[in-house]
Amino acid sequence: MTVRTDPLERAAARSARLEERIAASPERFRVLTGDRPTGPLHLGHLLGTLANRVRLQRAGVEVFLVIADYQVVTDRDLVGTLAQNVREVLLDYLAAGIDPSTATIFTHSAVPELNQLLVPFLSLVTVAELQRNPTVKAEAAASGGSAPGALLLTYPVHQAADILFCRGNVVPVGRDQLPHLETTRLVARRFNARYAPSAPLFPEPEGLLSEVPVLLGTDGAKMSKSRGNAVELRATEDKTRRLLGRARTDSERTVTYEPERRPAVASLLLTAASCTGRTPTDLADEIGDRGAAALKAVVVEAVNEHLRPLRRRRRELAADPGHLRDVLAAGNRRATGIAADTLDRVRTCMDMAY
Ligand code: ATP
Ligand code: MG
Repeated sequence: MTVRTDPLERAAARSARLEERIAASPERFRVLTGDRPTGPLHLGHLLGTLANRVRLQRAGVEVFLVIADYQVVTDRDLVGTLAQNVREVLLDYLAAGIDPSTATIFTHSAVPELNQLLVPFLSLVTVAELQRNPTVKAEAAASGGSAPGALLLTYPVHQAADILFCRGNVVPVGRDQLPHLETTRLVARRFNARYAPSAPLFPEPEGLLSEVPVLLGTDGAKMSKSRGNAVELRATEDKTRRLLGRARTDSERTVTYEPERRPAVASLLLTAASCTGRTPTDLADEIGDRGAAALKAVVVEAVNEHLRPLRRRRRELAADPGHLRDVLAAGNRRATGIAADTLDRVRTCMDMAY
C-alpha cells in the first residue's frame, strides 16, 4: 500500500471518495461554488470546476452558483465593467450546460441576509488565522504590491457565508481555493460547537477537485483571468489557435507526460485529454518525437472541437439579454429566501431572536 503524503494527492483521494458518496445518494448533496466576475471564464474554469458542476447537476445534485461580485473589489479597480463581466460569467455558465430551471445563479451583493452572516462568522476566526491563509497571501501578492484592503483579509470568511447560507456541502473548486475552504469548515465547526452543539446547523463542506486541479496558462503560470494567459471559452477558433500557438513548452523534442518535471507540456496534454476523453499518456505516446508544434496542433484541434457546441450556445444566449436578466433575478430571489431563513436560524441559535 502506498502512503499518500502530497497534499494534492490527499485532496484528490478525498475527492474520489466524495464522488462515490455523491453517486450513491445525490439528493443528500448541495453544490455551492462560484467565480469572481473579473472577466469571462477560461479553459481553467471549465476543466477545473465548471464541467464538474454541470456533471453533478445532471446527476441530480442541486447546484448553487455565486457570481462573487463583492470579491472583485478585494483587489481590483473594475468600476464600470462589473455588470458586463457578470453577464459574461452568466453566459459561460449557461453555455456550459448549467440549467437555470434547477440551478440557482446569484450575485452575492444582491443577497443582504447572506452578507449579514459575515458578522457572526468574523467573530469565529482570528486575524492571525486569516493572515496565514495561503490563498489570501497569494492574492495579496498578486495585487501588484499595493497594500491589500481589509476586505481581502476577510475574503475566506465571506466565502464561508457564500457556502453556508444555503448549507452547501460540496464545493467543486480548483486547487488554489482549497485553503479558503478550510476556513469555511472551521467557521462551520466553531459555529456549531459554540451555538448549536446539540443540533449542528452547518455542514462542513468538502472540496471537489477535478482531474485538472490547476490548468496552466500560455505563460506556464496558473491560467487566470487577470494574467493575460488564458484561453477564454468565448474565444474564436482562430484566436484559440493563436493563443495556444504561443503557449510555453520546453526544449525537449519528445513529448512525454511528466507533470512534475515538465509541467507546461503536461498541462497541454491534460487539456487535450480532458477535451477528447483520452488519457494524457496516450496522447503523448501518439505525438512522440513530432515535438511541441505537433502537440499544440493536437491541443488546438481538441479544444476547438470540444468548445464548438458551447460557443454556439453562447452566441445564441448572448442575443437574448432579457433572458439573462430573468435568470439572475430569479436566482437572486431564491437565494434571498434561503439566506433569510438561514439568518433566522442563526439568530435563534445565538439567542438573538427577539
Ligand atoms: P482572477 O484572476 O480574477 O482571480 P481566476 O481566473 O483565478 O480569476 P476565479 O474566479 O478566482 O478565477 O476562480 C473561480 C474558480 O475557478 C475557482 O474554483 C478556481 O479554483 C477555479 N480556477 C480558476 N483558474 C483555474 C485554473 N487555472 N485551473 C483550475 N481551476 C481554476
Ligand atoms: Mg482567482
